[in-house]
Amino acid sequence: MSIFNQTPEDYAILFLDMDAFFAKCEQECHADLRGKPVGITPQLVGSGCIIASSYEAKKFGVKVGVTVSEAQRICPQIIIVEANPKLYTVFHKKILAVLQDISPWVSVKSIDEFSLKIPPTERDYFKVMSVGQLIKTRIKQEVGEYTTTTVGIGPNYFLAKMAAETHKPDGLYATNLERIDIDFGKLSLTDLCGIAKGLSRKLKSEGIFDTAQFLAADIKVLRHILGFAGELWWHRLRGYEVDDVQFNRSNIGHSHVLPPEWRSPAKAEHVLHRLVHKVGQRLRNEGFWAKNSYLVINYLDSGVYFDHRKTIPYCDSQTMVNLASEMYQLRDWPGKQILRLSFSVSELVEGKAYPEPLFPEMQRSLHLTRALDRINDKFGRDTIFSAVMLGAQETAPDRIAFGKPIS
Ligand SMILES: [Mg+2]
Repeated sequence: MSIFNQTPEDYAILFLDMDAFFAKCEQECHADLRGKPVGITPQLVGSGCIIASSYEAKKFGVKVGVTVSEAQRICPQIIIVEANPKLYTVFHKKILAVLQDISPWVSVKSIDEFSLKIPPTERDYFKVMSVGQLIKTRIKQEVGEYTTTTVGIGPNYFLAKMAAETHKPDGLYATNLERIDIDFGKLSLTDLCGIAKGLSRKLKSEGIFDTAQFLAADIKVLRHILGFAGELWWHRLRGYEVDDVQFNRSNIGHSHVLPPEWRSPAKAEHVLHRLVHKVGQRLRNEGFWAKNSYLVINYLDSGVYFDHRKTIPYCDSQTMVNLASEMYQLRDWPGKQILRLSFSVSELVEGKAYPEPLFPEMQRSLHLTRALDRINDKFGRDTIFSAVMLGAQETAPDRIAFGKPIS
């Protein structure tokens, strides 16, 4: 089924975002930090990067991404705390346990973001609002009295996330298909999750200056400006689910949240090749060829880059690596640190229908790929792998499923 072949429905997705999560975890455990400006950094040095700040620090303008010395200049009384990922994982697991006790349809989006699918019979304003309130109350009771949660509800993941984003902190809000203009039309383009400066510049250069104009733009115009991503945006803004596509037989993908030491653009590329390699092995094991290849990059500071390539059916490693590399090289914001990489293929066709590739270079690559698969099947995965993955073999282990944080 095409991702556009849906009928958007109100109150289908509940999105939950913990407020100033890392800072709240620290404030929960260390009462002396409560009510004070706190900045979290992985390295306790002046050049270290602030990865989270408490609401008290945000008031001074301490944003994620500034250096420790910059934060201390903006807010001299700030308390700098070294990040404690183990502690945040403990909180994450407690929150997940509460959610799973409430619903069997929970997805983990990041260490502090979750989404719940609302069953069709429950898609009613009062019902979903009471589920949202229940979640907020139980997290306070069972996870921590100082933690606060913002819950957004909407027809799709994006609109539910926007409903939360515009009601932080400690909010609970449900938007619906009739209210999209009213609720989001006044926002600037970069207020929309997934629209960073590069994309907003592109839209502005074509005469779309604000969210109201973006919402009113014709699908053809968006396709002209942004290509396939434009089609996705048109649907995303109208409640179609294009961000939470269930990966089934018609779609094979892997994604990985990068540990801090793998987030530089050069290292992340190694991880990407590892993901591509895994997707390729699964594609061939399941006997498919792919026509569509997708790359999604989530940047550390919340921008998202999406690209795709439509090709003749293929299943060899070299073609897949080339497509992924090309999309990776063309990404917006090439200097930015990368938090998450997802690579997937879709429009799968039975391999039986394509006994041999059309082009000689693809034939060679396929023969080589099959030989490598046979060696790896016989002697264990990663016996032979592409040199570009050196060191990255362990970075995307199987146990980390889509979007799950590292534990
Ligand atoms: Mg959060």
